[in-house]
Amino acid sequence: MSHVFGRGTGALPTAVRGDGCYLYDADGRAYLDGSGGAAVSCLGHSDPEVRAAIHAQLDKVAFAHTGFFTSEPAEALADLLVNQAPEGIDKVYLLSGGSEAVEAAIKLARQYFLEIGEPGRHRLIARRQSYHGNTLGALAAGGNAWRREKYAPLLVETSHIAPCFEYRERRDNESPEAYGQRAANELEAEIERLGPETVMAFIAEPVVGATAGAVPAVPGYFKRIREICDRYGVLLILDEVMCGIGRTGSFFACEQDGIAPDIVTVAKGLGAGYMPIGAMLCSGAIHDAIAQGSGSFQHGHTYHAHPLSAAAGHAVVQAILGRSLVDRVQRQGETLNGTLCDAFGQHANVGDIRGRGLFRGVELVEDRETKRPFDPARKLHAKVKSAAMKEGLIVYPAGGTVNGRDGDHILIAPPFIIEDAQIDELVAKLGRALETTLA
Ligand code: PMP
Repeated sequence: MSHVFGRGTGALPTAVRGDGCYLYDADGRAYLDGSGGAAVSCLGHSDPEVRAAIHAQLDKVAFAHTGFFTSEPAEALADLLVNQAPEGIDKVYLLSGGSEAVEAAIKLARQYFLEIGEPGRHRLIARRQSYHGNTLGALAAGGNAWRREKYAPLLVETSHIAPCFEYRERRDNESPEAYGQRAANELEAEIERLGPETVMAFIAEPVVGATAGAVPAVPGYFKRIREICDRYGVLLILDEVMCGIGRTGSFFACEQDGIAPDIVTVAKGLGAGYMPIGAMLCSGAIHDAIAQGSGSFQHGHTYHAHPLSAAAGHAVVQAILGRSLVDRVQRQGETLNGTLCDAFGQHANVGDIRGRGLFRGVELVEDRETKRPFDPARKLHAKVKSAAMKEGLIVYPAGGTVNGRDGDHILIAPPFIIEDAQIDELVAKLGRALETTLA
């Protein structure tokens, strides 16, 4: 009997080895990692340079508390990230994962307004059907009804506006641009409703991942969001924990939306699965207000900026940049999208295929024309996941549409090193998993 208390249900295979795009279980069975776990393993499972960097750092120094020391890999990683970051972003706070990065972002926003003498600003606006993490602050920000409901009494009240889900919300006679403006204007209405002097920040995923299966916003949506934030002095926090670090075909996903946030979070792809790491990046203006005010950000975790994690993150970012993997994500992303559309574009139960780069989602619906979702009680996305595992394929079941609990999406986010033949293998195995599940 296993004493490990974890997330998976039922008997799970034991992962004993990873090689490139494959994981192997104790019986020697191979699983093609079609989702990088959950958009994590962007370099595959056995990258020699990342492994060497971790070993080298371990041989130098494993831990030095950030209250006393900085470290070479933390400094080097922060430099690399700032070089890639959107305009105005020039400070990096290293953490151990995505939820920690989001918590830090929320607290930084609050402290900023205290420092600049606007203590009334404490409210956060987020979007329905978003995911920002599992700790209480990040869970309060998240807009997935099912994830929140058990913990509702513990969660800080947060407003949730509609996400920008063109495939579901755009009216027949509406252009994508007009729809984007309409969706973004919900933010303005909510700020006005709450009172601008009470609103601290708006948080959103540029491409919605875990709850919706890789849904990007329509062009112009985030530009309008940026304008609204600027007009009301509200900070814009972008959560790129899942979609950042090259995953969508640009180093930061928001580059493709043509905007720069005030604060941005990254995690999964940053450690690429080799070490736990996340980061919260912020503008110089926010940092300086705090530095010149009370002096320091009142936050910290024992393991933040851990040297081994930073060494892994630095090696990952170097690999992505040095091997031109962002360009590769664009190319392989087009191939993946084409292969998915050829295989499932006309499928009776596929409502939408969307995404950017190597971050793609397949929406499963009962009725292709009306896009009526399947009965949530069927938990179809979870069944597709299990059927895919039987085929030797890992894909991520992204559940929750409309009210945060209906709807079935399959998230596909393979390692950036995926080859054409492996894309064919992924789509063929997913096709068989869908057939078994829908039969
Ligand atoms: N934000 C987003 C957008 C995420 O997708 C996730 C993880 N799925 C998180 C935050 C939380 O990250 P972690 O699981 O590393 O705490």
